[in-house]
Amino acid sequence: MSLDEEFKNILTDAERFLKQQQELYGDTIFIPKNESLSVYSAKTTASTISDVDLFGNVTKPTVSHNKIGEPILPAFPDESWTKTKTLEELNSAINTCMKCSLGKTRIKFVFGVGNPKADVVVVGEAPGADEDEQGEPFVGRAGQLLNKILEAVQFKREEVFICNILKCRPPNNRDPQAEEIDCCEPYLWKQLEIIKPKIILCAGRIAGQSLLKTNASLTLLRGKVHDYRGIPLMVTYHPAALLRNPHWKRPCWEDMQQFRKLYDEMKSGK
Ligand code: URA
Repeated sequence: MSLDEEFKNILTDAERFLKQQQELYGDTIFIPKNESLSVYSAKTTASTISDVDLFGNVTKPTVSHNKIGEPILPAFPDESWTKTKTLEELNSAINTCMKCSLGKTRIKFVFGVGNPKADVVVVGEAPGADEDEQGEPFVGRAGQLLNKILEAVQFKREEVFICNILKCRPPNNRDPQAEEIDCCEPYLWKQLEIIKPKIILCAGRIAGQSLLKTNASLTLLRGKVHDYRGIPLMVTYHPAALLRNPHWKRPCWEDMQQFRKLYDEMKSGK
């Protein structure tokens, strides 16, 4: 092997390693310093706030309450789609959205699919190429794996509702930008208001960080029950990450067992 080829292989390995680290830990780099772990350079976007305490635990976002103790949620924009009553009405009212630049590049608006009365809502990041072409979330390879993950804990795809934070595909599958999330997230609020699920499953670090407004790593977000607009929410690996790194299938399976247990407890009113 020439020196040039050897150098290229080292770079490819380094790139793969860093991508895996980013999937697990986000944009935070953990560097051992004086035999203890220090946290360096956590990126904060316009719509994220840091809520990791000194010990690396995710702290609950502060929720304000009104006089009768109900949480005050961020308000819907004053737009006509907020008055819709069903998912079909909502879809018709928003599927020509041009609030952000993704409206210009999408093939199809990917509203979401599944049971309109689902107890479980699965939220991914954003449509990819297959989803953009077909107008349905999680239909590519990652989608097939998601179906298997759900089946492994006795949920059928048709029984749950599946959607994404962004309803339009970001060019070249880049990460969603803060402004795009800010424009699109109220559509998810409305979907949840109509569906009234018992529990939410976030597929992947980016979905979890975006909804929970945190830069906490996937390692910290997993294995905990968070609150999203009054609905219990758990985070696990994105199926696309599992396709790249099958070693994460085991911890994902553990997350899903926990998710199923919580769901069963909620159903039985425990
Ligand atoms: N990845 C996602 O996050 N969502 C999809 O719909 C497809 C792939």
